[in-house]
Amino acid sequence: MSDQAFQAVLPDPDLDDAQRAFAHRIRAFAADKLAPHARRIDEEEVFRAESVAELAAARVLGGPLRPENGGEGWSAVELALAHEEIGAVCGNTRGFLAVHTGLVSQCIEAHGSDAQRRTWLPRLAGGEIIGCFGLTEEEAGSDVGAMQTRAEPVGDGRYRIHGKKIWITNGGVADVCLVFANADPERGKDGITGFLVPTDSAGLRRERMPGRELGHRGSDHAQLVFEGVEVGEDAIVGGLGNGFRVALDGLHAGRLSVAAGAVGIHRAALDASLRFVTTREQFGRTIDRFQMVQERIADMAVELLASRALVLRCARRRDAGVETDGDLAAAKLYSTEAAARACDQAVLLHGGRGYSSAYPVERLLRDVMGLRIYEGTSMIQKGLLARAFLRAR
Ligand SMILES: Cc1cc2nc3c(=O)[nH]c(=O)nc-3n(C[C@H](O)[C@H](O)[C@H](O)COP(=O)(O)OP(=O)(O)OC[C@H]3O[C@@H](n4cnc5c(N)ncnc54)[C@H](O)[C@@H]3O)c2cc1C
Repeated sequence: MSDQAFQAVLPDPDLDDAQRAFAHRIRAFAADKLAPHARRIDEEEVFRAESVAELAAARVLGGPLRPENGGEGWSAVELALAHEEIGAVCGNTRGFLAVHTGLVSQCIEAHGSDAQRRTWLPRLAGGEIIGCFGLTEEEAGSDVGAMQTRAEPVGDGRYRIHGKKIWITNGGVADVCLVFANADPERGKDGITGFLVPTDSAGLRRERMPGRELGHRGSDHAQLVFEGVEVGEDAIVGGLGNGFRVALDGLHAGRLSVAAGAVGIHRAALDASLRFVTTREQFGRTIDRFQMVQERIADMAVELLASRALVLRCARRRDAGVETDGDLAAAKLYSTEAAARACDQAVLLHGGRGYSSAYPVERLLRDVMGLRIYEGTSMIQKGLLARAFLRAR
């Protein structure tokens, strides 16, 4: 996007010069390293391993981690800006980051032991290894507490993990999995425990997800089958029986990235539409002259402004230490739903061309559907938001 268009599509008056320079740096990185491959990896349905090293070299991979853990100490506002920029160009890379850094590295930083932080974080931040987050199961999606994966105590502080995780982003390429299993089913969700498991452990089998994904086709999605994978208590993250809280905290951290990524997709849909409607001619004029087209552009634009405002509001409140579940649910719910509406309109505005992979908007529409589902569906966000308001009464 040209700088002029960037200013038009990103008129955030509240960014300071340093934040604006930061967003520009990430945008230049995304344009240089990610944009040339974004369409190809979607069409070829391949995970691009080289992008991991590029993200590390650009100091993005460890971005939100503290410097002593190999990170850059990004604020939440910087995280949101980075994920908007990357999301606008490549949903696959943004999704990779949300899992690798948001769900795995940040969880280890927040809940891991000193030894776990030392062992895993510098290598995750440096791109030497890849992380994945194993929570979802066949019968436990939104209802995380219903998980059937078990961590059976076998003495001397050791556990054997049995169970199957599905839809695991990076699952087939990861070196380490933060997996959740119930070590004491009688205690219900208070038995759930997080374990860091190297993916070359005996008894761990990885399979590609069956079927073909609607979007995020340049991402790696796998099923992880645990058949008696043995781990010691040094693999436990956040304490025995605290896994439910660790997982929810991880999702809390990651949701800001999803919300910001949705703003990026929304912006890309608007940008592509602006370019198209100002050049496509029908009835002897460019189609931007038609009021019904203008109405759609106006709707996309105002929703983008609202979406970004909610995301940055949430990020600023996170930085100030006052963010609530309601702030985050509002940001994730609104930004993903608004982005889906924008992509839908973008396809329509492109006419038949919008229906073809020769134009960018069909990929945006396919990718955005995932953001409404993972890290808590829109219905789950609505429930969180409603409960936050009801509690506040
Ligand atoms: C691209 C992609 C990547 C993913 N990556 C990962 C990953 O890395 N790690 C991981 O662990 N998981 C991952 N997931 C899984 C994802 O987190 C789940 O798909 C999601 O949590 C929903 O669970 P489910 O698919 O079982 O749907 P279900 O929970 O069965 O939901 C089905 C429908 O019921 C609705 N519903 C359920 N409960 C309620 C309720 N209480 N109130 C109202 N409506 C409700 C839902 O909103 C949805 O519409 C990924 C999914 C996708 C699509």
